[in-house]
Amino acid sequence: MRWIVTCAWPYINAVPHLGTLVQLVSADVYARCMRKLGEEVLFVSGSDEHGTPIEVEALKRGISPKDLTDRMHRYFCKLIDLFGISFDNYTRTESPVHIKFVQDFYLKVQKNGYIFVEESEQLFCPEDEMFLPDRFVEGTCPYCGYEKTTGDQCEKCGRLLTPTDLINPRCAICGSSPKLKKTKHWYFDLPRFEGHLRSYIEKHEALPQNAKSMSLSMIDEGLRSRAVTRDNRWGIPAPFPGSEGKTIYVWMEAVLGYVSAVKEYFERRGCPEKFDLFWKDPDTRSVYFIGKDNIPFHTIILPALLMASQEGYVLPYNVSSTEFLNYEGDKFSKRFRRGIWMDEALLLLEADYWRYYIISTRPENKDANFTWEDFEAKINNELNDVLGNFVHRVMSFLASRYNGIVPNADLDEESSDFLERCLEVAKRSISYIERFMLKEALKEAMSIAREGNRFFNEREPWRDVKVNRSRSDTTLIASTQAVKIISHVIEPFLPFTAEKLWRMLNLEGDPHSTTFDDMRIMLRSGHTIGYVKPLFEKVSAEELKTRLERIRREIKSEFLLEETS
Ligand SMILES: [Zn+2]
Ligand SMILES: [Zn+2]
Repeated sequence: MRWIVTCAWPYINAVPHLGTLVQLVSADVYARCMRKLGEEVLFVSGSDEHGTPIEVEALKRGISPKDLTDRMHRYFCKLIDLFGISFDNYTRTESPVHIKFVQDFYLKVQKNGYIFVEESEQLFCPEDEMFLPDRFVEGTCPYCGYEKTTGDQCEKCGRLLTPTDLINPRCAICGSSPKLKKTKHWYFDLPRFEGHLRSYIEKHEALPQNAKSMSLSMIDEGLRSRAVTRDNRWGIPAPFPGSEGKTIYVWMEAVLGYVSAVKEYFERRGCPEKFDLFWKDPDTRSVYFIGKDNIPFHTIILPALLMASQEGYVLPYNVSSTEFLNYEGDKFSKRFRRGIWMDEALLLLEADYWRYYIISTRPENKDANFTWEDFEAKINNELNDVLGNFVHRVMSFLASRYNGIVPNADLDEESSDFLERCLEVAKRSISYIERFMLKEALKEAMSIAREGNRFFNEREPWRDVKVNRSRSDTTLIASTQAVKIISHVIEPFLPFTAEKLWRMLNLEGDPHSTTFDDMRIMLRSGHTIGYVKPLFEKVSAEELKTRLERIRREIKSEFLLEETS
């Protein structure tokens, strides 16, 4: 089986906060797990850099949108790297490959008869002398009555909107009420795919229930044609004859990045023919890690576009959506500086602390809430006291009492049962990942260390080592092997910790490219382990908060890590 693993393309108008990390880390866990299962995996995403919010932000700073996204993209690549997100290709929507792909794609869709042109009246701000697409308009949602919705999608109920749907529309720049003015736009004939979409969604067993029911109810309400073009300057120039001066709507091109990023990857590696193998072969499965507000774009718009191209692209296999991550009971807010940003997080602690927290509180069925107290508890009581403690006890015992050499002894019944249990749990953890239940998977992985602590306590090797050496030998063999199992099972979640364990165990190769099968292979007697040191340190919520405040006071640059490195 071949896999295309992706996550929503981060919108880079600002440095992302921890909420963005939920999808990045989730997709990374999945991609790493599939690689270790020996599957062929391509993990792609990129910076989403067109559209009105970036145009507005650049306007405010007095720089060009391209200057803004060049800097942001560069910085974001660095953050991704530091968080250990193992993309095979992290690209951007300004990539020439993407731009050409999108233009050719829409010309094909037009040729196939699914694009039509219509003159319509659009909202126009007389004050700012411009049309007001998408987020340039605010108003009340006609479906749920939410009063501060924007003209592209309702933040509250998730419905896709067009600016003229809004009740009491206001210009988002100056607040005045817009007028209607005639303009010409190119539309994608979405309603013609209602039947196909319905059967794709109904028959698709892998799609989770929430994505299914949300999408089907949208189809029941009736789909509407979606404008492909916008009266924006910043974006991909629309390719249609007569569309000069217009750009492709950001939402209608960024979703195609999943396809173009794969194309770019293989072109760069000099084997462009492999692109078809990934995107047009029924043995490929594409999976998407997104926020729940993005579901319609991945279950309706993307599949419909892929169908409309008549290129034989495989349709999305699964859409794993999460609810929102809040901060101390409230939404993250840049304006009120409420939350933690990705770069700040790295200045406080290494990536694996955050990766652990993100997955162990992953908002799978309901919103999750970051609190410093909860963070402290999870890091100290789980990561440190369970995982860190087990590894340290075993490895330092082996180092001090056995000169770091794995002894030679046969396993007794108790210790071979213990190892069987560890392997069982490992298998369960992996199968939870395959079923997109990452939180549960991490819990299972951690329970190996929990079992390990219990085993080590019950066996009391510190007594045996003097009076019953062969029993203590057996205990150490089994416990060290459990550490090896952990170094595999934990790799998708905590890749940096897996590397540390790998070095501590003094294994060949690395934990990323070695498959899960390797965990069954016993460490040889006589094998010498490496240097042993603690994996984690305890944290204090109060101290972390104080340090964060100091960082914010002292570092004035928007790009924290550039100033400190
Ligand atoms: Zn609404
Ligand atoms: Zn205005």
